[in-house]
Amino acid sequence: MRIGYAPGPRSGKEQLRMGRTPRFTILWLLLASLLAAQGEGPNISGGPLIPEQAAVDVASYDLSLEVFPTEHRIEGTLTATVRILAPLKDFVLDLDTALQVRGARLMPSGQALHFQRKKGRIWVRLPRVFDEGEILAVAVDYGGMPRVARRPPWDGGFTWSKTPKGLPWIATSCQGEGADLWWPCKDQPSDEPDIMDLRIIVPQPLVVASNGTLRTVKNLPNKRRQFHWHVANPINNYGVAIAVAPYVEVKDVFSSIGGEKVPVTFFALPSDEKKARALMPEILDHLRFFEENFGPYPFRNEKYGVAETPFLGMEHQTLIAYGYGFRRDPFDYDWLHHHELSHEWFGNLITCPDWRDMWLHEGIGTYTQALYVEEKHGLDAYLKQMKLYRRTIANRRAIAPRRTTDSKEIYFGPEGGSDADIYYKGAWVLHTLRFLIG
Ligand SMILES: [Zn+2]
Repeated sequence: MRIGYAPGPRSGKEQLRMGRTPRFTILWLLLASLLAAQGEGPNISGGPLIPEQAAVDVASYDLSLEVFPTEHRIEGTLTATVRILAPLKDFVLDLDTALQVRGARLMPSGQALHFQRKKGRIWVRLPRVFDEGEILAVAVDYGGMPRVARRPPWDGGFTWSKTPKGLPWIATSCQGEGADLWWPCKDQPSDEPDIMDLRIIVPQPLVVASNGTLRTVKNLPNKRRQFHWHVANPINNYGVAIAVAPYVEVKDVFSSIGGEKVPVTFFALPSDEKKARALMPEILDHLRFFEENFGPYPFRNEKYGVAETPFLGMEHQTLIAYGYGFRRDPFDYDWLHHHELSHEWFGNLITCPDWRDMWLHEGIGTYTQALYVEEKHGLDAYLKQMKLYRRTIANRRAIAPRRTTDSKEIYFGPEGGSDADIYYKGAWVLHTLRFLIG
């Protein structure tokens, strides 16, 4: 995720307009007060593992979901296949209380299972104790009106928007709350499925962009289509996303230093097709920059995708959300795209197992913008960028607390505080290390 403040050189006039309070501080104070008003609720990701979830290792998720744009509703089935690590009587998944569970079944037999909702969790009673080494598959049928993101991507859920021509433009985001906002899952950053399938049904002429590779597009009765996306690499649950619109696909190919030809697709609104095409050379240049500095693009056997979304941005794996409106940073590049792409390495390839280490995603990600500025404009520009980052460091708390931390606390602080030190102080840790060890 990227906070809503992009440090870069500002004109005197702009600084005057901002006064003494940076815009991001106002934004974060506002968000903190919103969070305080809603209370903690079940919508956190990570935190201490309960024994029933520590006893399983997720092998795969298979999500079949129909999206009803006019009703702002979803209906579907999630099948989780897990390896049992310790004797298990109750299988537990997280799911937001806004959604209803229709039933749970043991797979592949389809035997109905008794379940209970306890706050943000589904407790499924298994017909017998499953022992270490066994494989368990459970399907959960669910649906309803998912939480609407009030201020995405800083708070998650569905965003139901419209294109300039009035057609549905829909996207998911759930970094702070976890994917249980829209599908049942083990909502822990420490456990990624090895693979995942998403079979998403939408009315024509909408297109579903998602993670991994597109296997099939099936025509269904009543002018609907099902898009089957297959994810062939481990994926963190907040990195799973769908973006739905009457997209046009702007395509290119990236020649990786790994030797592969990687398909690159920008899913753009029809009205922005030209702008997406114009940005493509820079997208390829960003990929080159990251490969030269950090190694081959991690998902070369899939694709690199960008989906135009009705919110700023998010590092969804192989399909970053892009809503920056093709604007330019004062250093004359698209920093939003650059930042989100950095997370394909720091966030998606390497994912912290506990949210307490989130500064590794955001701090390294933010530092790579300064490195790109240095490559394009020289050392003075790099130092200027680092100074701008430094101005925003609040130093109110440790950026890497040693105790287990949940997603909200790491972004907002234990008292709902507001600072962005995991970004900018994190970047300064890298700057310091570069000075110390070269
Ligand atoms: Zn970020």
